[in-house]
This record gives sequence, C-alpha cells and structure tokens, in this order.
Amino acid sequence: MALKYKVLIIISTLLLTASITSSIINFRLDVKSAQDQLINVSLPLSVDNIYTEIQQRMIEPLIVSSLMGHDTFLKDWLLSGEKDIKQIEKYLLAIQNKYNVFTTFLVSDFTKNYYHSSGLIDVINEKNKDDAWFFNFKNSAKDYEINLDYNQNLGSSLIMFINYGVMDYAKQFIGVTGIGIELLDIEKMLHSFKQKYKYDVYFVNKKGEIILFSKYLNKRGNITSIKGLNLFEDKILSDKAYLIEYKDEHDNEYFLNTKYIDKLDLHLLVEINKKEYMEEIKSKFYTNLAFSILVTLIIVFIIIYVINIYQKQLENIAGEDTLTSLANRRKFNEDFEKVIKNSHKKTNKVLLFLIDIDDFKYVNDTYGHLIGDQVLKRVALVLKASLRKNDKIARWGGEEFAILLEDTSLENGLHIAEKLSAAIKTDVQIQEMIEKPLTLSMGVGALKSSDSQDGLIQKVDKALYRAKEQGKDSIVTA
Ligand code: GH3
Ligand code: MG
Ligand code: MG
Repeated sequence: MALKYKVLIIISTLLLTASITSSIINFRLDVKSAQDQLINVSLPLSVDNIYTEIQQRMIEPLIVSSLMGHDTFLKDWLLSGEKDIKQIEKYLLAIQNKYNVFTTFLVSDFTKNYYHSSGLIDVINEKNKDDAWFFNFKNSAKDYEINLDYNQNLGSSLIMFINYGVMDYAKQFIGVTGIGIELLDIEKMLHSFKQKYKYDVYFVNKKGEIILFSKYLNKRGNITSIKGLNLFEDKILSDKAYLIEYKDEHDNEYFLNTKYIDKLDLHLLVEINKKEYMEEIKSKFYTNLAFSILVTLIIVFIIIYVINIYQKQLENIAGEDTLTSLANRRKFNEDFEKVIKNSHKKTNKVLLFLIDIDDFKYVNDTYGHLIGDQVLKRVALVLKASLRKNDKIARWGGEEFAILLEDTSLENGLHIAEKLSAAIKTDVQIQEMIEKPLTLSMGVGALKSSDSQDGLIQKVDKALYRAKEQGKDSIVTA
C-alpha cells in the first residue's frame, strides 16, 4: 500500500479514536452529573413542590370545613332535633355555591341521617362497609380527617372529603360535617409533571393502595403486589422520606423519592424511569458523535487534498529539467509510454523527433559554459514556442532534445521540423550570443504498430546519426 494511504489510515484512525473516546467520556460524565442532579436536586425539589401544591389546595377546604364544624347554627339545629330539613338544605347549598365545591354534607350522630344540599339522601348504618368512615372517625377522636374516595353516588371521579367533627357545647360528638372536592385538577397536575419532567407522581395510602395518580401511570393496585416496589414496602409506608432505586418486572429501572404527608395520611411517591430521562442525554451523545465524525472526515479530506497538491508539486519537480524547465528524459519516457498505449486505441499518428545541436562543444569552448547554458535555455524556449500546446518536448540529454507529436502525418511532421530548424537558425538572441547562426541535426520517425518505445527511439537515433554524418544542419527520416 502506498505510504500516502498508510499515513491517511493512521491519522484518520487516531482522530476517530480520539473523537469517539472523548464523546464517550463526555457521555459518561453527562450521565453521572445528570444522575447526581436528578437524585440530589430535581427529584427532592419536585417532591417538595408537589407537597406544597397539595397543601395549598387543602388549606381552603380545611378552613371551610372547620367553619362548618364550629357553626353554632349547625350545632343548634342538630341539638334541637333536626326538625326543618329545608333549613339545613339551604345552609349546605349556600356553602357549596359560595366556595364552589363539589359537595357539602352533614351526618347526625343522633339520627345517622346523611344530609346533602339536596336534602336527606341516606341513613348510614354501622353494618354498611361504605359507611365505616363515619364510625372510624367518631372513634378516632380527631378534629378532622381527610379521606380520598371514589364515590359511586357522586360519579366515578376521585373525591377528597374533609370530615370535620361537630361537638355540642359540652364538647360531646354530635355529628360530622364538611365538604368534598373533586380531584380532577390534581390528576391533571400529576399528568403535567409527567409531561414536563417525565416524573410519575402518585399517592399511596397506609395500606399501600395507589389511590391518587395520573391516568398515564403504568401502575395500579397495591404496591405490595407490584414487583420491585414491594421490596421497599417498609420504607415507602414509613413516615420518613427515602430515595429508592428499583427495577420492575419488565426490567425498567426507576429512581423513586417518597415522602409522608401526615395531613392527608398519604405517602407521596415521585419516580422517574431511568431509560426515559437517559433518552435526552443519549440523543446529545449521538449528536456529538456524529459531529466529531464529520469533523474528522473533513480533516481527512483536507489532508488528502493537501497531500495531493504536494505530491503533484513533487512529481513536477522530479520530472523537470532545472536548466531549461522542459520535461526531463524520465518524464518524457513516461509521457511517451502513455502515448504509445493510447495509440493502440486510437489511430492517431505519432511522430518522434530527436534533435542535437551542431557543434555545441565549439560554443562552450569559445564563449564559455555560462553562455552555453543561455543558448540551451533559448533553444528550449524557441522550440517550445514553435510547438502546439499538446506536443511534448523534453531535454533528452546535454544539448539534445526530444519532441513527440500526436495526430501528425510524417509529411506535416517534416514541415514542422523544417520550421523548428529555421526558427533556431534565425533567432536573433542566439546570434547575438554566438555571433553566428546555430544549426540543428534532427532524426524524425513515425510510430508503426510493430514499434516498441525503445525500437522507435533507436530508429530515430540512427536517423539523427545519419544527419550528422551527412554534414549536420539537416533532417533525416527514419
Ligand atoms: P556535434 O555537432 O557532433 O553534435 O558536436 P557537438 O560539439 O555538439 O557534440 P558533442 O556531443 O561532442 O558535444 C556536446 C557538448 O555539449 C559537450 C558538453 O560539454 C556540452 N554540454 C552538454 N550539456 C551541457 C550543458 O548543460 N551546458 C553547457 N554549457 N554545455 C553542455
Ligand atoms: Mg550531442
Ligand atoms: Mg551536438
């Protein structure tokens, strides 16, 4: 393989290796810093943001429920025997409209009547599972409680109930009142976290049931039966915050941040699928890689271009005669070889002239070598100027020249030879240098199909020899 290609392969391999390695190193660093950022900043921050957001959404409903729980009208109405249902209907409807909430309610501990803004809608029963919340709350002795429930009576949307205890003037439990708000907007908010940050946000109650989630979450049911998550049941359901890494049944890996929200008695879970957040970093990696490969290719092409230019220059120098700037014998032979090859394809007529300056020794001896050189240069110039652009001329040896003509008949060639001879003989500059006309002897030969390059040269050289023998200043055909 040529040295040029070896060098190119080595350089491109080095450049490519360097750029690919640096892209990979950058990618690794990016992954690491993105992971650190995610674990230490983004995830905890979003847990706090979501927590604050949820808190804020609960403040107003809590205040409204608290107002209801402490309302003397409600207490008096319950204590006076729940007589005029219209009055309580009006009250509940007024609150519902004023605060634009989904529902308002009052349950009496005396009659177990469930009042709603549209009147008495139910009588609760300790044996009914759906009514267990009332008795649990009564027994808990808490001021208030927040329940999340899919209430069939109220459509299938998720409702957050804020139950507030109603006490008589002796602080004895006489009922539960409060409001229910639809959590549709909270589900939307959870979904927006997914869209904006690729985070899945969901809530788990103390039994481990996923009860509040965006409909795009790929998990349902109880975390104790979800592969991967179930291993961390204790941590998730504790009242501390944790960062957990787990793998699900499809081998998807997650970073999960948990936090207990005591007001809601719920565990907030924020997680991200490692693959999803890696996508961005990966696409950055591929862009970097493509760019560095492109730059490498451009550099390689520039190197090829520059090498070619230098190679051409070197070839030109190697094929040039320094004194006359004509092609040297080596270059002439190469060109000659090409012409011979082509002459088999085309039926072009090829002529070879070998020219020897007559009595050049005399020029040197009489005027010195320096003038001799000037004469040689002038002869080269005049000969070249008398030829066509595509004709090939070279300095064959000391004071000898070779000319190759294509597409020229022997007859025309002889005319050209005469013209060259006359041009030299009559050149004023030469005559100024040597004080007499300079003459040439020439051998002229046409390439025949049976001729080799050397064969033709030999024939023409013999013709030149004959020209000398017959008294110089003449043209002899081979
Ligand atoms: P002929 O008519 O038989 O060709 O006689 P000639 O004197 O030209 O022949 P010969 O071959 O004996 O001499 C050629 C001379 O050309 C001898 C050599 O010193 C001279 N010569 C060859 N190359 C150069 C050159 O580069 N510069 C100069 N000044 N002289 C050169
Ligand atoms: Mg000679
Ligand atoms: Mg000579």
